[in-house]
Amino acid sequence: MEKTVDLYPKVAKFLEGQKKLFINGKWVDSANGKTFESRNPATGEVLITVSEAEAEDVNRTVDAARAAFDNGAWSRTTAAERSRLIYKLADLMEENKEELAQIETLDNGKPIKETRMGDIPMAIEHFRYFAGWSTKIVGQTIPVSGNYFNYTKHEPVGVVGQIIPWNFPLLMAAWKLGAALATGCTVVLKPAEQTPLSALYLAELTQEAGFPEGVINIIPGFGPTAGEPLVNHEKINKVAFTGSTEIGKQIMRQASDTVKRVTLELGGKSPNIILPDADMSKAIPGALAGIMFNQGQVCSAGSRVFVQKKAYDNFVADMVSHSQSIKQGPGLDSNTQMGPLVSDVQQNRVMKYIQRGQDEGAEMLTGGKNPFNNGYFVEPTVFAAVDDNMTIAKEEIFGPVVAAMPFEDLDEVIERANNLNYGLAAGLWTENVKNAHYVADNLQAGTVWVNCYNVFDAASPFGGFKQSGSGREMGSYALDNYTEVKSVWINM
Ligand code: NAD
Repeated sequence: MEKTVDLYPKVAKFLEGQKKLFINGKWVDSANGKTFESRNPATGEVLITVSEAEAEDVNRTVDAARAAFDNGAWSRTTAAERSRLIYKLADLMEENKEELAQIETLDNGKPIKETRMGDIPMAIEHFRYFAGWSTKIVGQTIPVSGNYFNYTKHEPVGVVGQIIPWNFPLLMAAWKLGAALATGCTVVLKPAEQTPLSALYLAELTQEAGFPEGVINIIPGFGPTAGEPLVNHEKINKVAFTGSTEIGKQIMRQASDTVKRVTLELGGKSPNIILPDADMSKAIPGALAGIMFNQGQVCSAGSRVFVQKKAYDNFVADMVSHSQSIKQGPGLDSNTQMGPLVSDVQQNRVMKYIQRGQDEGAEMLTGGKNPFNNGYFVEPTVFAAVDDNMTIAKEEIFGPVVAAMPFEDLDEVIERANNLNYGLAAGLWTENVKNAHYVADNLQAGTVWVNCYNVFDAASPFGGFKQSGSGREMGSYALDNYTEVKSVWINM
């Protein structure tokens, strides 16, 4: 039976009229009056129109963030005050958690179960974790030679341009904002054009929390017309980007003109390795969730499942039957386990990969179509007989499509797992602790999950090896991305 969630009054109100840009603590139209539409992926219908930032808006926003940094209202206020405001924001998010969950589901399509249990609480915890760090960022006193006193200070890097994708819109905003705010930076955040709404709701909460004007600015817009001017802006000290490897490379090149600091969280094609001694009652649903979670639109999705030959046939058969039992539907139906993809563009992209897999000779065992007449849905799709050289084994699909591949021995699978330029994450399922350490040691990936997958915590770092990125988000490691180290010498 369908159980569609009733929208909270605050959500209905939020969806009235046109959304504006949040610049210098105020809601403003874009300079050129342009707007774009945000759509509900479950139906394809327009949800709302949103002001579209372009270069002129980027300029005035960066000016505001620069002034807010230079006037010291944030960077030089006490760490305790920064902490208090970030905690306050987290508390307001908690008070608005159902509103945030509904907005996220409407805008992105993901099941309300997941926004309630995952996206929103994790975003709140992320802010709390970094609120705690504000007061704990310390330097060192260093025993140098000679009659000198030498110490280090960690100072905020300055004004940060942050560009995020659409797959976890609020959580990605939290990942970016948490460390930046804790360290005393001011921020211009550009949400993805597909999913601007939860970041705009968050902006309302930052107003309510009482952040000084210009510290947090949120300007929806498109990559080439808002993202690029932000990256190129000479008053930005650092760019923090999450998105595709292709755009990440472009950003790195552009940032070199002004030697901006850059952190990149990019794509992946993560291996998930199943050894025959794994507890299959956990490995099968675990590996399946590792790829199907969030409709497969996860940078760390375990999209290459390597199964040892002895276990391969049974494993694949079970993965197919589990896939067929996943309940698809609109995100606002509380029984839905898998929602639509974010956009028609993404749906078409994934469908093309499915076609390509078939054309190149892989065997599609289940899935491959939209089960409904409308919306941007794609069925959970399992491919077997996949060769390492096929496109679906090499390129990031970013959809609910898994390539299952058999292997013979550990060293072979490690080599195959490592043979792409990506290195974001990897999984391993085994009951043998020696093999667990051996494989974890030898995989080229920023995160290795053993007997689990897609587990995150604000305290644990996340980021990529190789072309999956540079720098780490979360944990104490993230603070380094947002601080400059100053070494001070005093002649005694
Ligand atoms: P994308 O690179 O097209 O867009 C991401 C963001 O960059 C959007 O806000 C977009 O507007 C902006 N952008 C696009 N072109 C730009 C340009 N020329 N200059 C500046 N900004 C620009 O990526 P996408 O398709 O929206 O997102 C999916 C990708 O993100 C996948 O590759 C996925 O793996 C990656 N991702 C990585 C992580 C991670 O933590 N490593 C997390 C989520 C998503």
